Amino acid sequence: MKPFEPNTFRQHFPLIVNQENLDHLLNTAILTNERLEQTGLVYFDNGATTQKPACVIESYHDFYQAKNANVHRASHGLSAKATAAFEQARETVAHFINANSSKEIIWTKGTTESINLLAATLGKTILQPGDEIFIAVSEHHANIVPWQLIAAQTGAVIKTLPLDANGRIDLNQVEQLLTHKAKIVCCSHVSNVVAKINPISDIIAKAKTVGALTVIDGAQAIAHLPVDVQALDCDFYVFSAHKMYGPTGVGVLYGKQAILEAMPPYQSGGEMIKTVSFTEQTTFNELPFKFEAGTPNIAGVICFAQGIQFIRQYDSAEISAYEQQLTQYCYQALQQIPGVTFIVEQAPDITVIAFTINDHHNHDIASSLDSYGIALRSGHHCAMPLMDYLNISGCLRVSLAPYNTIAEIDYFINVLKKILKQETSVNTTNLEVSATVESDAIVEKFSNIKSWDARHREIMLLGKKLERLDPCYRNQHTLIHGCESLAWVKASTSVTGHYHFQADSDAKIIRGLLVIVLAAFNNKTKQQIQSVDVNSYFESLGLLQHLSPSRGNGALAIVDKIKALSCA
Ligand code: PMP
Repeated sequence: MKPFEPNTFRQHFPLIVNQENLDHLLNTAILTNERLEQTGLVYFDNGATTQKPACVIESYHDFYQAKNANVHRASHGLSAKATAAFEQARETVAHFINANSSKEIIWTKGTTESINLLAATLGKTILQPGDEIFIAVSEHHANIVPWQLIAAQTGAVIKTLPLDANGRIDLNQVEQLLTHKAKIVCCSHVSNVVAKINPISDIIAKAKTVGALTVIDGAQAIAHLPVDVQALDCDFYVFSAHKMYGPTGVGVLYGKQAILEAMPPYQSGGEMIKTVSFTEQTTFNELPFKFEAGTPNIAGVICFAQGIQFIRQYDSAEISAYEQQLTQYCYQALQQIPGVTFIVEQAPDITVIAFTINDHHNHDIASSLDSYGIALRSGHHCAMPLMDYLNISGCLRVSLAPYNTIAEIDYFINVLKKILKQETSVNTTNLEVSATVESDAIVEKFSNIKSWDARHREIMLLGKKLERLDPCYRNQHTLIHGCESLAWVKASTSVTGHYHFQADSDAKIIRGLLVIVLAAFNNKTKQQIQSVDVNSYFESLGLLQHLSPSRGNGALAIVDKIKALSCA
């Protein structure tokens, strides 16, 4: 076993900034974008997906270079080689989570597909009208919506499990709520936002007493906690490869063999078939193939095993201790920043820290951090019911990995303080409010701005120029769909048929984008509006390549809404 040493560990991840450069960055007083171009990225979005070690990347290359063939089908040597590696990967995963047999490991595209498979197949077999499906309020949409769809089809009822003050599923409520009507209990081992370890052993034990099946979403836990499915005694445990150093497009459905055997197939075709006939009943393959229709992600599965082997070289207790150290350090540093509120009480159990900052929209902070090369997540984190439950519209989420360092956290905290200071000083400056900004003036201004952080600052300043929309106009009719922050646009026309648009958003960055978009469309006729070439306008401003997908899509959603309003 290799000793875990963060700086050496880090060297395995090509996409991660190397420590020397970061030290250099920290020693320079000015945090500019040019500096970042030399240093790379501070990646704090590991809960969304981890970076990949070089051995995983190489293994992908190696598969296509030396082993590429379809599995299980052909009688030639290359296929045998690919099949051996593919099935060895299944053994590796079975061993990793202590499954009783590799027959209990089904390859899927990811956690989401694993849950969809379960909802579809269990829905057909065990759910009757009035049966109850229990879901914790903190679940990811992937562990809510498939159950909602199947409940609608079967007449089953969704019931929610509330949290205790610390954000864990409240066991007392589990005790009280679960009765013999409960057929399926679904919860995450650890929520992707709350980051507390749920008392799943107790929940599983309780579910057994009422005869309910248990589905544990291990998407976040798998990279941080030892998972022993036999000790847990859960019926199903699901996770994705990409959240633990493996590739995207590969996931695992672990299920107890007897239950999987009793379940009908999910999708059909390919290796899941034993015999097909037009006169006799079509028959299905044994486990695990019964649930694997079509050609699987062979290269991905093999790479995933490489990722597991990579991480298993290290002492997991040492990695865990380091993760705890990073988390505590970051949590305590954030605690010192005025206005920071953690979404639940007490420090998280894994490396995920979710918080809001008073008077600052989470998207504004995240996009400002991005302009300093710090990648973290903002928004609802695919957990809208949790946001409602906590009575927040969204939050920021730092999620760390063992290749992150204390120096990166220091950099993040320094940048965050700097952004908050800048925002506060802009807030207190009494900027002139003007509703009309010409698009030519914006293009002219942006053409003189070279760096993305300066351009980002300019968008934020433009946002200050947007007159606020009367709250009575912020409604379902004016709401812009497809924009992650709340945003509204309203149209009026002059006697000459020229349109005037007014808009607003709860995020400053979106208000800035609104000014930019309105400048291109205001005081134009319907025909002129439809013929605006928005892509070249954004291109000339150097915007789309920098805006994150949600912000970028937000800008396009604003345009779509404006075009629709002019057609209405
Ligand atoms: N559940 C949880 C707790 C998650 O964090 C995620 C990913 N954010 C998912 C489910 C869905 O995973 P995937 O997109 O890999 O299917």
